[in-house]
Amino acid sequence: MQEISDVLKRRKKTHTISVGNVLIGGNAPISVQSMTNTDPHNVYATVGQIKKLAGAGCDIVRVAVPDEATVEAMRKIVRTSPIPIIADIHFNDKLAIKSIEAGVHGIRINPGTIGGKKRFADVLMCAKDYGIAVRIGINAGSLEKDILRAYMHPSAEALVESALRAVEEAERLGCINIKLSLKSSNVLTTIKGYRLLSRKIRYPLHIGITEAGTLISGTVKSAVGLGILLAEGIGDTMRVSLAADPVHEVRVAYEILRCLGLRIRGPEIIACPTCGRKKIDVVRIASAIERRCSHVDVPIKIAVMGCEVNGPGEAKEADIGLAGSLKGGVIFKKGIIVKRCTHDRMLNEFMNEIRAYYQGGHS
Ligand code: SF4
Repeated sequence: MQEISDVLKRRKKTHTISVGNVLIGGNAPISVQSMTNTDPHNVYATVGQIKKLAGAGCDIVRVAVPDEATVEAMRKIVRTSPIPIIADIHFNDKLAIKSIEAGVHGIRINPGTIGGKKRFADVLMCAKDYGIAVRIGINAGSLEKDILRAYMHPSAEALVESALRAVEEAERLGCINIKLSLKSSNVLTTIKGYRLLSRKIRYPLHIGITEAGTLISGTVKSAVGLGILLAEGIGDTMRVSLAADPVHEVRVAYEILRCLGLRIRGPEIIACPTCGRKKIDVVRIASAIERRCSHVDVPIKIAVMGCEVNGPGEAKEADIGLAGSLKGGVIFKKGIIVKRCTHDRMLNEFMNEIRAYYQGGHS
């Protein structure tokens, strides 16, 4: 498809770094990240959440390290996690260094909160010694005081100056296994900041809209902000930040990547909004299918359509589709009618056909 190859062609060339076994930048797929929101001292709960995130397709997960006790927990979390762990540190360079020593695969620090230039440099040197990647995370809420004074407010230019200052310091220390993020809760500031920064550096960019909001508002903000950046070829790894179960962050990230043809994972569910013509309960069936297929990573296009107006057309275009009819539903596979079913058996029969489809390796 021309539109998809145009997006791929626009992708900015960046250096490749690795976080554990996940490559970021260069030609690597855009990786999806999330962050646990369990009590980090609770290894069982945190690893449990990480496994759910990994099951949803999360490539890398960040865990907050607020105190010494968490460093101990981190040793165990790293040993049992199925995906690489990034320790998220603020205000305490010693915690960053201890986390690196505990075996984390990457570290995220913010030059504005780590406690000054010397402490920032100490953490970078330690990460370099252990050969792990550092995310330098610039945040509009915690810019260095002199930069904030000079720009008066956390503008895109101010964020970029903070990032470039950090990059200069990292390069002076020979620490080049780095990626950068510039986060603001303002979508336009974030977009402008990443655009400016991507013209100036070749390090991979971690993109995200910080403090984006709840499930709906955060999804919309992230889809607009990250979608624009990705369509312009900017971004090597991403996190959708939501005030919700982090598994939703991963699902939303994949939906954004899917829309742009950048990475396809799991089912794409096409459902009509329904109207007065509907013959079947599209909302209930589509939601149930989405829930029952949430563990599936095979790319498969599933359509659920309410009636014969657009139903047969969309259902035929999908890998597998259901269109409502007077007597119940009609199931299509690759455009061919394979079954007609009554209302009471429709959901189960459709799900059986979907299961047979993805288990049969028809992707
Ligand atoms: S497919 Fe039918 S039920 Fe669905 S929105 Fe279109 S006309 Fe309405």
